[in-house]
Amino acid sequence: MGFVDSVKGFASKVGGSVERGAKTVSANSKKLVEKTKIKSEISGLESNINADYIVLGKAMFEKICDDPESEFENTVSDIKEKNKKLSELKAVLMSLEDKMFCTNCGAQISKDQSFCDKCGQKVQVEENVAEQAEVTEVIEGTVSDVSETVETKVEATVDSADIKDKE
Ligand SMILES: [Zn+2]
Repeated sequence: MGFVDSVKGFASKVGGSVERGAKTVSANSKKLVEKTKIKSEISGLESNINADYIVLGKAMFEKICDDPESEFENTVSDIKEKNKKLSELKAVLMSLEDKMFCTNCGAQISKDQSFCDKCGQKVQVEENVAEQAEVTEVIEGTVSDVSETVETKVEATVDSADIKDKE
């Protein structure tokens, strides 16, 4: 074998292995793409199923939450206890964080944000204060009405008592 021939032979061997290498790389990257695709499909389906389980669990809870004879009584009372604790903690947190409920959708929002995260309603803290003042006025008005009524009734009773005494 002459020098040129061996160079050609070497080159073709190198070329061949490069080609094979390229084939292997592309096969591997195809596999990787396939694996990634399947993994994401699996985790998508799993979280989908878990969401369904939650829906089922909540429906089941609603059905049996008032049944002390149910076989899940322990879990049910556990959930109830935790829900109670949860709303207590949420109420405390809300007052600590200076939060309020959205006037449109009822979502919990911060008093210093401009729009509701959920429904986009403009946050109007001042109007709420005005509303609260109105409510206070209404309550005060009602209270004074009631006390006036009570006073009137008392006076009337006293008057009639006087009349009875005189009779
Ligand atoms: Zn809202």
